[in-house]
Amino acid sequence: MENCIFCKIVDGKIESEKIYETASIISFLDINPKAPGHSLVIPKEHVEILTELEDELACEIFKVTKRVEEMLKESLDADAFTIGINDGKAAGQEIPHLHINVLPRFMGNGGKPIHSVVKNPPKEEVPKIAEKIRKTSISP
Ligand code: AMP
Ligand code: ZN
Repeated sequence: MENCIFCKIVDGKIESEKIYETASIISFLDINPKAPGHSLVIPKEHVEILTELEDELACEIFKVTKRVEEMLKESLDADAFTIGINDGKAAGQEIPHLHINVLPRFMGNGGKPIHSVVKNPPKEEVPKIAEKIRKTSISP
């Protein structure tokens, strides 16, 4: 897609520190890393959010994410990882091309768990919300 930074990285029009590539997915280092080895994993095809990605690519992108974790663990001796997607504008997504963040974590690095990104507990009880969700057309 024109004017998409990540499509330009895919096309080689913008430089990146690429660390892994398949026919449909690439991974490169974040330009403004929040941890050593902070990496992004993206589909080469321009989709904005996860639900726009076809199932086969959703499997592939997760497989590549696993490989990237293995590479970061071996090279940087990471103790753990935080894997996250800002999946849409309201979630803080700024670049509208789906990207999985792989953040190496180290003992005592002062970071917080992923639960710390939002504090908006529901007013309804959990079983009521579950009932609502199970009624959707997508339910198996
Ligand atoms: P988000 O807010 O989820 O859209 O995050 C976009 C991420 O892309 C940020 O972590 C940026 O530091 C990163 N980023 C932006 N431009 C580049 C670039 N040219 N190469 C690598 N990472 C980038
Ligand atoms: Zn794009």
